[in-house]
Formats: sequence, C-alpha cells, structure tokens
Amino acid sequence: MKLSIIIPAFNEERNIHLLYSQITESLSDIEFECIFVDDGSEDKTFAEIKILADKDKRVKGLSLSRNFGHQTALLAGLNEAKNEIVITMDADGQHPPEVIKKLIEEHLKGYDIVNTRRISTADTKYMKKLFSKWYYKILNTLTDVQIEPASSDFRLMSRKTVDAYLKIEERDRFTRGLIKWMGFKQSIIEFDAPERMTGTTKYTLNKMLRLAFDGITAFSSKPLKISLILGFSAILLGLIYSVYVFVAYISGNTTSGWTSTMLVILFLGGFQLLSIGIIGEYIARIFNESKNRPHYFIKDKC
Ligand code: UDP
Ligand code: MG
Repeated sequence: MKLSIIIPAFNEERNIHLLYSQITESLSDIEFECIFVDDGSEDKTFAEIKILADKDKRVKGLSLSRNFGHQTALLAGLNEAKNEIVITMDADGQHPPEVIKKLIEEHLKGYDIVNTRRISTADTKYMKKLFSKWYYKILNTLTDVQIEPASSDFRLMSRKTVDAYLKIEERDRFTRGLIKWMGFKQSIIEFDAPERMTGTTKYTLNKMLRLAFDGITAFSSKPLKISLILGFSAILLGLIYSVYVFVAYISGNTTSGWTSTMLVILFLGGFQLLSIGIIGEYIARIFNESKNRPHYFIKDKC
C-alpha cells in the first residue's frame, strides 16, 4: 500500500519541517510520497520544501505562480499524486499525522473516501465556531448535498475517487461539497484538532466568506428563488398597502405619510439590492466558467 500526502501551504515556512518530522515519525512503516503545494507564498515556504526534497526523495514540491487559494492548491496536489491512496491535509499541524493511520483503517473497512470532522478546535475563535455552525445549517437547508458541521479538508481518497474528482472541471471549488456530491462509499471519523504549530490563520475573513458563498452558489439555486419570493411578498404587501392609500385618499386624509414612504423605500430598496446581489453571484460564476482559464499555473517543482 502506497500513500500520497498532499499539503497545501501558504506562508507556512516555520511549519514545513515540523510537519515533515511528525509525518515521517508516525508513518515510519508505510511507503509514501509527500507533496507540498506552495500556494504562492511570500515567505521561504518553497525554499524549506526544497531543503527537504533534496535530502528525502519521498518529498516533492510544487510552487504555484501566485496565491490561488487553498481549494485550488488542493486540486494542484491531487493532479500530481500518483499513489493508490491519497491523503489531503493542512500544513499547520491542525490535522495531526497520527490520524492518518485511523483513516487507512477506516478505508480498509471498504470505504472509498474517509472524511473527517473536528471535535475540538483548540484555538478556533468563538465567533468562527458560531459562524461555522450556522453556515452548515443554512447550507444543508439550501442544498441537496448534506455536509457534516465542522467538516475539514483532511481526508483520504482512493485512486478511483481521485480520478473521478479530477474529471470535475468546475472553478471556484468547494471541495467538501463536490466530494459529497460525487457519491461513492464514504465514511467520516472524528479527530481532535490541536492548535496551529506556528503562525496565524491563512484563511482571512475575505477568503472564508468567498468559500462560504461558493459552497452555497455551487450547489443550490434556491437563493435565486428566495429573491423571487421576496419580490412577490413585497408586491403583495404593496397591494395591501395601496388599498389603505386609496381609502386615505378618498377620505381626504393624505397630508402626513413621510414615515410610511420611507419604510417602503427602504424595504423595497433593500429587497431589490439583495436580489440583484444574489443574481450577481450566479452571473459571476457563469462568467468565471465561461472564460475557461486554466485553474492554476505551476512556477517551479522540486
Ligand atoms: N492555505 C493555502 N492557500 C491559502 C490559504 C490557506 O494553501 O490561500 C493553506 C494553509 O497554508 C493551510 C491550509 O490551507 O495549510 C488551511 O489554512 P489555515 O490553517 O490557515 O485555516 P484555518 O485552520 O485557520 O481554518
Ligand atoms: Mg489551520
């Protein structure tokens, strides 16, 4: 049994060596290749990977031409992986290498894909946990793919499922949604996520929101329908209100009315902007797909 381990890394210079030693220690009896994907780091991440690759031929490095984001870096790694079993994990130590053996055990029970979910996240902020919890509730209500809360991109995939995944052409990926959508025999195991070894999160608020929107818009067109429902409700309320306006006009009671006018303008304006925004999100996705650009460029390999 041979493993390919894929590790996207963005500005993780101080974590590369630490993670490498943890991996070699916990997988001393398993044959593996370790593919670090430097996602356009501005620090010495790729230099660190090169040092490892020079002394250990199991280590490979890819350097993307710029920061394409975690999800695309994962894709680049999957394209490069050659072995029968493929593991994807973070570079910061929050996906402990000792869990890999548990993933393999579960795979040997007959599962093609073994997903993971964090049961405790030592250094995750309260707000992020709350956001994540509600996000998965909304996502699972709006979309047909059901994703476990606290899911992560720490997972095992068999060769068959990696090949299937690579057939997906989609841009702006939400990997965990696509994996669920693919089907195959999947299982999920739980793990304790320790604190980041060094450095701070590379998922800025902006990147997190982007991923959250991609997750919803890639798997559901319900938001478009919601904006339609909002529009209809606004028209209905408008109709009811116009009866009142008409009665008031007949009874000659029409001087004041600033408050109600303002409320109507504010609400309608809000609904309209919201709906245009939602439509915009989908058009942006179509626009991105239609350009049909390569997903990433590789600048350097080692
Ligand atoms: N990452 C990446 N490109 C990015 C952002 C993050 O390759 O643009 C990598 C990062 O180096 C790490 C993994 O994705 O290996 C998860 O990121 P992070 O640990 O910062 O996220 P968090 O655990 O805080 O959600
Ligand atoms: Mg992390």
